[in-house]
Amino acid sequence: MDFDVDLFVIGGGSAGVRCARIAAGHGARVGVAESRFWGGTCVNVGCVPKKILVQASEYSGHFADSRAFGWQLSVAGHDWPTLREATLAETRRLSGIYVSLLTNAGCTVFDAPARFLDPHTLDVGGRRVSAERIVIATGGQPERPGIPGDEHGLISDDLFTLENFPRRVAIMGGGYIAVEFAGLLAGLGAQVTLLYRGEKFLRGFDSDLRDGLAEAMRSSGIDLRFATTAGEIERIGPDTRLHLSDGSRLDVDALFLCTGRRPNVAGLDLAAAGVASARGGAIPVDAGMATNVPHIFALGDVTDQVNLTPVATAQGHALADTLFGNRPRSISLANVPSAVFSSPPIATVGLTEEDAAARGPADIFVTRFTPMRHTISKRARRTMIKLVVDSATQKVLGAHMLGEDAPEIMQGIAVAIVAGATKADFDRTIGIHPTAAEEFVTLRTRTREAGQPPRDP
Ligand code: NDP
Repeated sequence: MDFDVDLFVIGGGSAGVRCARIAAGHGARVGVAESRFWGGTCVNVGCVPKKILVQASEYSGHFADSRAFGWQLSVAGHDWPTLREATLAETRRLSGIYVSLLTNAGCTVFDAPARFLDPHTLDVGGRRVSAERIVIATGGQPERPGIPGDEHGLISDDLFTLENFPRRVAIMGGGYIAVEFAGLLAGLGAQVTLLYRGEKFLRGFDSDLRDGLAEAMRSSGIDLRFATTAGEIERIGPDTRLHLSDGSRLDVDALFLCTGRRPNVAGLDLAAAGVASARGGAIPVDAGMATNVPHIFALGDVTDQVNLTPVATAQGHALADTLFGNRPRSISLANVPSAVFSSPPIATVGLTEEDAAARGPADIFVTRFTPMRHTISKRARRTMIKLVVDSATQKVLGAHMLGEDAPEIMQGIAVAIVAGATKADFDRTIGIHPTAAEEFVTLRTRTREAGQPPRDP
């Protein structure tokens, strides 16, 4: 049978763009459809603009610290529209680059939604396009928690286009986005209250990181309220009013609902192609990213596996190499490093202490110290560095850090862990002095066996 294209990719985000342009580079005839913005969540309403706002927010701490180093500054304040426009200009620039990458690679791009008509045919903005193979890379979107009045709350997408900077902010949720938003909004001058339904936020991260970050956020003035939810939300004039589970009320200028994301499958008509999806919409895939229909694949957040841009791009690249580059391969989801750009940031790779303890005996090495900058600035900020080591094999199973530059440092540590480094490999590595990172190679004394209660504060 003759198809219009060899590959049609639905979704022009991190996964879809990488897959499409690598496939085209291997000689495939490729079409790509994007209905909202090229570059997807990461470029437009995620990683990129978020990181710019985090960087902007760090200046307030630097200004305050600088006095102890002899600088005499007076800061008049922060101008939100300047930052918003700089951020939007950068996301527009990058979004344009994504389109050029595709067209330069020879892909045909469609600024339109795509919908299945049958397993090999799509309606793309009113045009019928047939494809031998199809990739679904439609990503995800923020989901409201479903409480009365939650339409008065904002979602993460809304931060980047806010007309006015909110002075009093409530954030609901305790995942990556909630914690990052709390830090950056507080750094830019907002009074922030974070409400999390459980006893400790950042479920799934190492406990020492979760405790250390909560302590650091509280000491920087963020009001963290755990085991607290909002039962109802109201709009009172310009204010948003939250009725909290402890019976109190909280009035704010803005409420951000950071209670998770759901896969974008609405409007695809997966049933027309016979593609199965799970509850919540995620599309199950095998190790080769194939759905239950062998010539239809799914990549990135729509599969709801590890929802991170570098995982999505790696999957897209591997699929294109496999299908069109004569280089079959798949991506391992073990030891995927990640960071939360909180204030201070945390970064992690491999197993948490809790996961390691559940697998078998493991040794824990932890150090907490005041980094050099803050011995001078006197800002109450401690850094924590932690290794989780298999007691039997001495392989380093996990590395965790809370503190400035943690994401930058963890990328290199992740290489060592992916390569299977042992504690002895870390120990024989010479440190770079004076840095915080050198503590990773100077952890000499075991702190405790994994899973035992911490002895030190
Ligand atoms: P997460 O799934 O990480 O967190 C959602 C949070 O909302 C959890 O704390 C959850 O609580 C809470 N929650 C869920 N439903 C409700 C509810 N009905 N009422 C109250 N609280 C609720 O989602 P995010 O939106 O923060 O992030 C989505 C994904 O995007 C992340 O998992 C990550 O993969 C990715 N991301 C990565 C970033 C990075 O790499 N730096 C930055 C931002 C996002 P509980 O834990 O109890 O379930």
